[in-house]
Amino acid sequence: MSTETFEFQVEARQLLQLMIHSVYSNKDVFLRELVSNASDALDKLRLAALRDDSLGADLSDLHIQIDVDPEARTLTVRDNGIGMSYDEVGTLIGTIANSGTAALLKELEEAQDEAGAEGLIGRFGIGFYAGFMVADEMTLVTRRLGESGGTRWSSRGEGTYSLEKVEDAPQGTSVTLHLKPADPENQLHDYTSPWKIREIVKRYSDFITWPIRLVPQPGDGEEAAEPETLNSRKALWARSREEVSADEYHELYKHVSHDWRDPLETIRLQAEGTFEYQALLFLPAHAPHDLFTRDFRRGLQLYVRRVLIMDDCEALLPPYLRFVKGVVDAQDLSLNVSREILQQDRHIRMIQRRLTKKVLSSVKEMKANDAEKYATFWREFGAVLKEGLLGDPDNRDAILAVASFASTREGDEPTTLQQYVERMKDGQEHIYYLTGESRQSIENSPHMEVFKARGVEVLLLTDPVDEVWVDAVGEFEGKQLRSVAKGEIELDVQGGDQQDGAREEQDESYAGLLEWMKEQLGEEVKDVRLSTRLTVSPACVVSDAHDLTPALENMYRAMGQ
Ligand code: ADP
Ligand code: MG
Repeated sequence: MSTETFEFQVEARQLLQLMIHSVYSNKDVFLRELVSNASDALDKLRLAALRDDSLGADLSDLHIQIDVDPEARTLTVRDNGIGMSYDEVGTLIGTIANSGTAALLKELEEAQDEAGAEGLIGRFGIGFYAGFMVADEMTLVTRRLGESGGTRWSSRGEGTYSLEKVEDAPQGTSVTLHLKPADPENQLHDYTSPWKIREIVKRYSDFITWPIRLVPQPGDGEEAAEPETLNSRKALWARSREEVSADEYHELYKHVSHDWRDPLETIRLQAEGTFEYQALLFLPAHAPHDLFTRDFRRGLQLYVRRVLIMDDCEALLPPYLRFVKGVVDAQDLSLNVSREILQQDRHIRMIQRRLTKKVLSSVKEMKANDAEKYATFWREFGAVLKEGLLGDPDNRDAILAVASFASTREGDEPTTLQQYVERMKDGQEHIYYLTGESRQSIENSPHMEVFKARGVEVLLLTDPVDEVWVDAVGEFEGKQLRSVAKGEIELDVQGGDQQDGAREEQDESYAGLLEWMKEQLGEEVKDVRLSTRLTVSPACVVSDAHDLTPALENMYRAMGQ
């Protein structure tokens, strides 16, 4: 069969360079990545078989196997999972599809030092390519379920990879690393040592539900050793709380999220009663770059009695919690339930309600007990969470309780609506805000002048969603939310210097000027009025209280409405 040689995509090549020269200090994680992929492939095989039993998939001994050969200096991770077709190998392994790659690489170029580069790799996660941290050559042989022929992929990680069709590949995938020369100073870190493999699997992959077996290579004159299962295979959510360490939770998070960084928060929930389930949820520490795009993959893993039945189950959380990762394991669901049915399922809706409340109460606790963590959370996910103010009226109060906003108050601390209301001046009736693209543009707006002059606090709202929820929510504790850029502003707070009667007098004396301006501006404006909102600028443009603001018009247009 002929071998074809292909060039890696530019981005992939650059990433591989980084891997080969491996600035990442914790190289052990390469094995976690390969095991994680093998585990995913086994999950996929079982899911495919569940959906379609005519596939004839053999589910009798699904497992991951690790072989090491110190003589040849190779390490192989095998699975009898779903496998890949020739084309899939080309697209999945030959390219890095992730649209964040280009942005990442730009940052990498700018991060001159190794520490910067290491941080970026950790942020991004490299998956399969992580193998090149420890190997100078990687070979993958795979055959997809239902196909007769297999594919062999091979690369030295340098600029090209080769693809070849092979006849006799078993179903599933094996990845063989030809390891870089051992460091004679540091035998303990030799990846052909069974001891080392045991340690890494135990540390990073213990919770993987499929057996991970190690088959040590027999030495001269020795008998072939029995394969040994390295992982306990115990689901973390099925173990008692005291027994599971934070690190173990973090490894599960990395496996389900494909993120390389620790999560910000781990949330565990156990529901007993007529419909039993367990949930392990994670709040990531960083918003993924595609969180606001249409193809963002949201959802939790759904298990039924330890068996994964759906990978991205969207029905378990509302869209505004789409950044939450994790697993739900339910006692009594049918194994072959479809997505469509789940959307309608009464129990699933119950779970969704409960998980939503649990996430919001966890954020509330975080806010009360760990200001720094909360600040990170809100910076990363506040803009998404606020979408819930529109879509989820039942939890509106809970969301408002954990929402915080920039304001014109002294100091940089964001404020809650509650705190704002407590600080309101005597006679101030409304909660004032202004929306805009940046804090700076808002602060310099002429609309702010009178509020500055009178010392009235204004919330500075810069997320696109802010335009919408303020109208939907309308008020907080009986105080209306009022844009300082809309309608008439009457500031009745103490320190107001407008006297009764003076206003009417002014109106009269300026009537001629206002009339003339209206004529000049014609269709461009609805009205021209004298205003009390300015102290420095001579004039400003104001919307009617119920008009769309310019930014909102842009947002609707961007959404194609
Ligand atoms: P990720 O796992 O985050 O998608 P990887 O670089 O680890 O990224 O893997 C890229 C893709 O290659 C996977 O999404 C999967 O489709 C495919 N893949 C990798 N390893 C295997 C395997 N052992 N069996 C089947 N497919 C695999
Ligand atoms: Mg992976």
